Amino acid sequence: MDAAALLKWYVDHGIDETIGETTTDRFALSQPAPAGVAAGLALQPTPLRAPAPATAIRAPVPLESPQLVEDARALAGRCNSVGELEAAIRAFEGCTLKRTAKNTVFADGLPSAPVMIVGEAPGADEDRLGKPFVGVSGQLMDRMMAAIGLERGAGFYITNILFWRPPGNRTPTMAEQAMCLAFTRRHIELVRPKILLLAGGTSAKALLDTTEGIMRLRGKWTTLRLDDGTEVPTLPTFHPAYLLRTPASKRQSWQDLLAIDRKLSELGAR
Ligand code: URA
Repeated sequence: MDAAALLKWYVDHGIDETIGETTTDRFALSQPAPAGVAAGLALQPTPLRAPAPATAIRAPVPLESPQLVEDARALAGRCNSVGELEAAIRAFEGCTLKRTAKNTVFADGLPSAPVMIVGEAPGADEDRLGKPFVGVSGQLMDRMMAAIGLERGAGFYITNILFWRPPGNRTPTMAEQAMCLAFTRRHIELVRPKILLLAGGTSAKALLDTTEGIMRLRGKWTTLRLDDGTEVPTLPTFHPAYLLRTPASKRQSWQDLLAIDRKLSELGAR
């Protein structure tokens, strides 16, 4: 019973994969503090409460320093190409999510594509392969876009709000989201897509800086204004994972696809 309770506790806390035969307390290993982290905010291991496992386990206190968000913003602002931005994100050590992810998941497709899609976060498949939207919801996304003649590559470019999989797909903290968002906003500035498609409520809320839910936002065109003055026609739409759970909503998504098709024609991008 104790072993079963411990196993359940692990799974509840997002520890859902075995990656080795012996335990390693990675948080106890010395790590350089990310640039700009106030000394007092460096890793402070917190002992977890019961049930007590055989080997001591420590959890990190999430780095919630606003300075890290500023660092991410400053770093992103210095990048002048998508390649530079990708390298900066891969080298960024300020986001706690990176410590548990297998891969940094940056983007897929050609930045010159007319449509840029921003989803939520890499899942297990994306984390394993290092590419966004490669699991079942990604396959649905590809089929939907293909229905209006847009293929991943020259037709659409795809990324996420988060570049690392949250362990056990937990909800990312505000600081984790804000750090990644600083890079994502610069990503959009550098790509300058003709149309931005926000897949799902998390992406729409974060980029449009609103508390409005996806049910209200979906299907309504808006303009995303970025720090360098770039303005991008933006359409929030349902996330394909939601469509897999709620197939009846595909009807509304089809309307969104037709709206994208029309907008591309209006913009002369067809
Ligand atoms: N869901 C997302 O939002 N992004 C991915 O990359 C995969 C699934």
